[in-house]
Amino acid sequence: MSDHLPILREIFGYEAFRGPQQAIIDHVAAGGDALVLMPTGGGKSLCYQIPAIARQRAGQGVTVVVSPLIALMHDQVGALHEAGVEAAFLNSTLSSEEAYDTERRLMRGEITLVYAAPERVTTARFLAQLDSLNERGLLSLFAIDEAHCVSQWGHDFRPEYRGLAVLHERFANVPRIALTATADALTRADIVERLQLQEARQFVSSFDRPNIRYTIVEKKDASTQLLRFIEREHANEAGVVYCQSRKRVEEVAEQLVQAGIRALPYHAGLPAELRQKHQNEFLREEGVVMVATIAFGMGIDKPDVRFVAHLDMPKNIEGYYQETGRAGRDSLPSDAWMAYGLQDVVNQRRMIDESPAAEEFKQVMRGKLDALLALAEATDCRRARLLGYFGEAYGGQQEGGGGIYMPYCGNCDNCMEPPQIWDGTDAARKLLSTVYRCQQASRSGFGAAHTMDIVRGKLTDKVKQRGHESLSTFGVGADYSEQQLRAVLRQLIAMGALNVRSEEGFNTLELTEGSRAVLRGEQSVLLRESVAADKPTRGSRSKSRNAPSAAATHLDPEAMVRFINLKAWRAEVAREHNLPAYVIFHDATLAAIAHAAPQSLDDLQGISGLGTKKLEAYGADVLRLCQA
Ligand code: ADP
Ligand code: ZN
Repeated sequence: MSDHLPILREIFGYEAFRGPQQAIIDHVAAGGDALVLMPTGGGKSLCYQIPAIARQRAGQGVTVVVSPLIALMHDQVGALHEAGVEAAFLNSTLSSEEAYDTERRLMRGEITLVYAAPERVTTARFLAQLDSLNERGLLSLFAIDEAHCVSQWGHDFRPEYRGLAVLHERFANVPRIALTATADALTRADIVERLQLQEARQFVSSFDRPNIRYTIVEKKDASTQLLRFIEREHANEAGVVYCQSRKRVEEVAEQLVQAGIRALPYHAGLPAELRQKHQNEFLREEGVVMVATIAFGMGIDKPDVRFVAHLDMPKNIEGYYQETGRAGRDSLPSDAWMAYGLQDVVNQRRMIDESPAAEEFKQVMRGKLDALLALAEATDCRRARLLGYFGEAYGGQQEGGGGIYMPYCGNCDNCMEPPQIWDGTDAARKLLSTVYRCQQASRSGFGAAHTMDIVRGKLTDKVKQRGHESLSTFGVGADYSEQQLRAVLRQLIAMGALNVRSEEGFNTLELTEGSRAVLRGEQSVLLRESVAADKPTRGSRSKSRNAPSAAATHLDPEAMVRFINLKAWRAEVAREHNLPAYVIFHDATLAAIAHAAPQSLDDLQGISGLGTKKLEAYGADVLRLCQA
């Protein structure tokens, strides 16, 4: 048995460690350095909180937690207080008396975990305080959360993180643990170098999130598709909708509100107080849908986010995976849903082309975008593809016919309903030769719409103006619908057989090295038959509309009444303590209590999420509610 299991049980009320938690905790508590790569929801917080508690109990003093998000520190620390742990934060939201008081307790080494942002940790004043603690043997551990912020290859680069190298230089004797949910090799190498973690042991977990169902649909009318998806699968549940621009965020939030959904906008253009207010509502109230740019989400540890939807395509798989990972931290069934179309591809390409970055950097960005396109166009298991991208082989397989085994997870759109495959090779060749002929005839490139018009034989003004009706490919694809050709173009771009070039605000198509194999008929272009996007997915979870929570679907009617009462009580307590409800108890804990129908405090022992402090503070109330 690990020395630290009693802390897990007593303080956090959990029965067993998850995955590599125990190995990490043992290593760090014993004074080792660690780099922890674990997906969102994997349980990273305990990896430094338990060593912090163990080392404080052993008289080794304070753990400093470096966290980038001041706005979340209050709730993080509140959650530790609820569990009976001495924790505090230092940031600009404190009054000077509060800050002074916290510093005094800190200097006495009484605090177990102190949270601060990197820009604070690296001030001369704070470093001097740490010196003083360290001289007295009361500086126990540094935990660097969201460590990918140190890397420009990550998606949340924060220059302040670079300054954290000082921790190693100045406090070489103090162990460090760095944690991130970003897994790609480039970012990882950068973290090691920038934070000087060459000696640290690396703990890399499986990045699979089996409770998240991945679905990518073809974008038609994105907001209507989104609305259907929410109404059908997630009525009254919390979710996040990501859009590319502030304007889109506002529009979509408005549309959802019109449709009776509690949606709130969040983007960097809103005043800070309003952003904070919306974030608080999302965290503290039930069933709120946050419509946001990627400015929202890092560090949000709300466990019952039931879906993450992308209305626009992100920049790369790292971003997509990080954002979708915010769904279902509580391990209950959740959805990652994305609508994707040709315009997304074109926009993302343009943003890269037009950015002022160095060509070498753009090349990396294009490669990352291509990998995401390939995921979106994939006809096989999405999960296997995602994990493959992070260098992880997915174990699940199923015979795909003819004795060939295919990756199979059973919980993504392609596994649940294998797409009809359509042979688009002929259409692809017609499109590519049209691109070629236009270029030859007019000595300039043309966009997707014009190219498709020629292939379909549409006599538009532009076609006439350019004399393109005389091209030999004019009308050769009259049988294809625009939707089909659009899908073929997307696929060609995803395959790298066609390039989108952006110049002076125009997007033109151009052939690549990869075009040749398709033109010569050496490579076929297979794509998914467009499925009607608003058809319900087979095996849709279609839970009963009355179930108030994904955690409570299996409760009998009497237990359901207890669950509902417990939730109402929890809401009151949360309001009194000025904390989100899930910090008091998770839905799953309330559901377990409701199911157990406890008659005595003893009956509450061993319920997951019910530690000693919470039992003491809330046990009597909970019993009374259950007996009522
Ligand atoms: P991360 O920071 O990796 O995204 P968290 O630390 O927020 O994940 O943990 C995700 C959820 O899992 C939290 O609600 C946490 O309480 C819970 N959790 C973590 N470890 C365990 C465990 N060993 N047993 C049960 N629940 C756990
Ligand atoms: Zn799958």
